[in-house]
Amino acid sequence: MAKRDYYDVLGASKGASAEELKKAYRTKAKELHPDRNKDDPTSEAQFKEVNEAYEVLKDADKKAAYDRYGHAAFEGGMGQQRGARPGGAGGDFGSSFSDVFEDLFGDFMGGRNAGGARQRASRGSDLRYNLRITLEEAFSGSQKSIRVPTLSACDECSGTGAEGGAEPVTCPTCSGMGKVRAQQGFFTVERTCPTCGGLGQIVKNPCKVCKGAGRVEKERSLSVNIPAGVETGTRIRLSGEGEAGLRGGPAGDLYIFIEVREHPIFLRDGLDLHCRVPVSFTTAALGGEVEVPTIDGGRSRVKVPAGSQAGKQMRLRSKGMPSLRGGGAGDMMIELSVETPVNLTSRQKELLREFEGLSQDNHPEGSSFFTKVKSFWDGMKG
Ligand SMILES: [Zn+2]
Ligand SMILES: [Zn+2]
Repeated sequence: MAKRDYYDVLGASKGASAEELKKAYRTKAKELHPDRNKDDPTSEAQFKEVNEAYEVLKDADKKAAYDRYGHAAFEGGMGQQRGARPGGAGGDFGSSFSDVFEDLFGDFMGGRNAGGARQRASRGSDLRYNLRITLEEAFSGSQKSIRVPTLSACDECSGTGAEGGAEPVTCPTCSGMGKVRAQQGFFTVERTCPTCGGLGQIVKNPCKVCKGAGRVEKERSLSVNIPAGVETGTRIRLSGEGEAGLRGGPAGDLYIFIEVREHPIFLRDGLDLHCRVPVSFTTAALGGEVEVPTIDGGRSRVKVPAGSQAGKQMRLRSKGMPSLRGGGAGDMMIELSVETPVNLTSRQKELLREFEGLSQDNHPEGSSFFTKVKSFWDGMKG
C-alpha cells in the first residue's frame, strides 16, 4: 500500500504554517486517539499515521526534506534519523502514546519534570498470568513452574538497543535533558525531545536483533512460590518479572492471578471446609463412628451420637484452610447424610417389618410434624 501524503493525513494544505499544522494535528490526534475509539480497530493505525506525519512536518529540517523528496527522504539506512523514522519495522511511533500526551497537553500543564517523563517512556509493561491450582495446593502451598511469553532484555546488545552492546550516547538535540524548549509567540514551551523521545540518549547503530528496542519476545520459565492459604482472586506480584523496559529501562511486574479449582469432596467457605459424609441409618440410630477424609490427605474418626438426624452438622476444629495472613486455620464442617438401605434380602425385610411393628413413639424429640398435621386436618373439618 502506498504511503499517504503527510499533508493529506493531517488535513492541511501544502503551504500551511507551523501554527496551522499544529492545530490540524491536535484536532486529528484528539479525534483519532485510541482511548476514544475503542470500537474502531482502524483508529489506532490512523492515529499512528497522524503522529508520524506530524513528527516530520513539525521539524523544520525534516519538513524541508519531505517537501523536496517526499517519503523517499526517510527511506533506506536511517542511522541518526530515528526520531523521524516513518512507522516501519522500528515501530517508534506506536510506542509513544505518553509522548503524544506530552505534546498535546504539555503546554497547558506547564510541562513535567524530565525525570518523570523518562521513567514513563522506558519502563516495561506489567503482565498478568492466570494460574489454576488445586485445593490441596492452596492448602499446603506449592512451588509452580510457569512459562510466560514476554519481552525480555535482548541478549545481543545486553538490552541497550545499540549494536555490539555499545553504550547509547547523549542525545545531541536536547543535550541529554529529554526536553527541548521552543519560542512560541511570547511563551517559551518545553516539550519532549523529538529525537530521543525523552530518554536523553540515542543509539547510533541500532542492534539488528531487537531493532534498537533493547528487548525481544521470548518465553521465560519462572518458578512461582505459592503461599499456603491462597484463594481464587489472590494476586501474587513478582517484582521486575514483567516486560523488559525499552532500551534498558526498568522492567514491569508480573501479577499471578490465582484460581483454585473445585474439589470433588470439599467445598470451601472462607477458611472453613464443608464435607458431606454418608452414614448408615443404623449407625445414625444406634450411634457409632465414621471415618472422614481431611484436606491434608489424612483421615479423622468422628463419633456419631445415637439418634443423629440427616443433615446434622459436626465441627472438626482446625481441619480447614490455613490463613494466608497467618494465625490459625479454619474448621471442617461435616454434614451427615443418612442413607436408606437398598437391595434388601427377605430376612432383612422381615426384621424391618418386625421393627416397624414395635415402633410407636420413635420420632425425634421436638419433631412435632404429626401433631401439626393432625391439628391442620382438624381445622379443615371445623
Ligand atoms: Zn533528546
Ligand atoms: Zn538488541
